Amino acid sequence: MDFNLNEDQHLLRKTVKRFTLQEIESIAVQIDQDAKLPDTLIKKMAQIGLFGMAVPRQYGGAEADHVSVVLACEEVAYSGTGAWWLVAFNNSIPECIAHFGSEEIREKYIKPMCNGAGYSSIQFTEENTGSDPKALMTTAIPDGDDYVINGTKRFSTFGGRDGYSVLFAKDETGNCTAFVIRKKGEGYGVKKSWDLTGGGGIETVDIIFENMRVPKANLLGEKGKGFETLRYWIATEKIEQCGASVGMAQAALDEAITYAKSRTVREKSISTMQGIQWMLADIYTKIEAARWLTYRTAFLQDQTHPHWMTEAAAAKLFVIPAVLEAVDRARQIHGAYGYCKEFKIERIVRAIAGATGIATSLEINRSIVGSWLSK
Ligand SMILES: Cc1cc2nc3c(=O)[nH]c(=O)nc-3n(C[C@H](O)[C@H](O)[C@H](O)COP(=O)(O)OP(=O)(O)OC[C@H]3O[C@@H](n4cnc5c(N)ncnc54)[C@H](O)[C@@H]3O)c2cc1C
Repeated sequence: MDFNLNEDQHLLRKTVKRFTLQEIESIAVQIDQDAKLPDTLIKKMAQIGLFGMAVPRQYGGAEADHVSVVLACEEVAYSGTGAWWLVAFNNSIPECIAHFGSEEIREKYIKPMCNGAGYSSIQFTEENTGSDPKALMTTAIPDGDDYVINGTKRFSTFGGRDGYSVLFAKDETGNCTAFVIRKKGEGYGVKKSWDLTGGGGIETVDIIFENMRVPKANLLGEKGKGFETLRYWIATEKIEQCGASVGMAQAALDEAITYAKSRTVREKSISTMQGIQWMLADIYTKIEAARWLTYRTAFLQDQTHPHWMTEAAAAKLFVIPAVLEAVDRARQIHGAYGYCKEFKIERIVRAIAGATGIATSLEINRSIVGSWLSK
């Protein structure tokens, strides 16, 4: 058992930390206000190798491990913006295609996701379903060499940006099938842009499909087995989300320490008060536990451990409540200033608030772990 990051991972962390400070943190307030990532960011991220990290080299990836992907998400999320979603999606989605796709699909679609030519998306959620995959309404009906897609997808992150998406729809047999699609062209339209509480730059929209034609060759995985693809992707995304949440919580702790040292009450720094020190200790401990559980889960994915997907659910179940509590404590240390936009902690509080319900809710993850234990 070795709890040390290797040299490559250390170097990666350092590089991404510097990149985040220069390219994201410096404009984080703007990103938060605009709720949009700068158009230039995707290319810059690609240039330093933040996409397709765990994807085989032959498709444009770096063949790195999943711990490295988590480290990248963690460091980018330190900015308290939604920029980490771009890292998460342009890693987990090409990886999903590498895992399930035919050789033709891999050759065609993975490279542009790795080199920053396009934004990757996942399109599963609909008005009537976020947690129940059986309730899908979007249809994919075969017609000649194509499938014809009709329906509306909800909360599609980067759905309005050009690039590629993994779309889940009900095929003519009533089963869920996954496809890789280009997010552009006839039959593809953005219907609504969601005004989110925080995580500026997540860019989440509804998409309407009106007789959009997708070649049969773009089927991802086996026909009718879309849930398998979804389960794999969501488990990967959960681990990334845990990493990003740890990054945001670390930023909250650092802000709280700086604030506590600079704030004087009754002629002494509040950082000398036992009550504040206890809060800092609790925050630190929660973050460390969350961090190492996340790394371990990423490690299990690297090992293709038979239960890594269930372990991802278990990790989310612990990590998200732990970091939410940590961030809330850090806000508390800021007193009234924690409620003011001028302070980074306020942005982090909003950015992390949605973590319980994204990429499956905590309750669903509790059910995944509980039903596995009771088998
Ligand atoms: C910022 C953001 C970005 C997103 N990006 C994407 C994206 O890119 N692609 C995409 O497809 N989706 C995306 N989503 C959607 C997200 O993944 C879903 O919203 C999420 O899975 C939860 O679905 P829901 O909101 O419909 O919750 P519901 O399914 O309506 O659940 C509501 C509540 O009921 C509980 N519940 C539901 N079923 C059960 C059960 N069986 N047992 C116990 N409790 C239950 C849930 O835990 C939750 O608390 C995004 C959402 C947000 C907010």
